Amino acid sequence: MECICGKTKEFRIGSNQFLINEKKIVIHNLPHFFCSQCNKESYDPKLPIDDALKYAYENNESELDLQRYLDYASAYEKAFEIGVLMVVRRMLDSGINIDEVAKHTIYSPEELEQLLQDNADLIRERMQCHRQRQQREVIEKKE
Ligand SMILES: [Zn+2]
Repeated sequence: MECICGKTKEFRIGSNQFLINEKKIVIHNLPHFFCSQCNKESYDPKLPIDDALKYAYENNESELDLQRYLDYASAYEKAFEIGVLMVVRRMLDSGINIDEVAKHTIYSPEELEQLLQDNADLIRERMQCHRQRQQREVIEKKE
């Protein structure tokens, strides 16, 4: 990758410091390109650096490991997706057709079908947990 100054930028993985509203936040394990002539870093725009900084800022953390953040973010996304799929499963089980259900999601009917298939075990497991919790709540209310 070439810098605007003409020099080739060096690929590195390391720690960089950012300033957010006067708060210093260091991101570790951050892949970046470095130009030794301009003494400047640049980043792959696909990396969610802004999200990571926002997360660190909101949680009042001055350091954050990007790799750990990415794992956390994908786990969170996955949990969210499973939550959506549980609702979809329930709508389908109550007799609503998949084209109708898909309209309420960001997925096409084909994508939904694929997601339901790929995650069938996980969805079933979560729904069981959920049912057990509801039953427990009913029992607790009776007592
Ligand atoms: Zn340069």
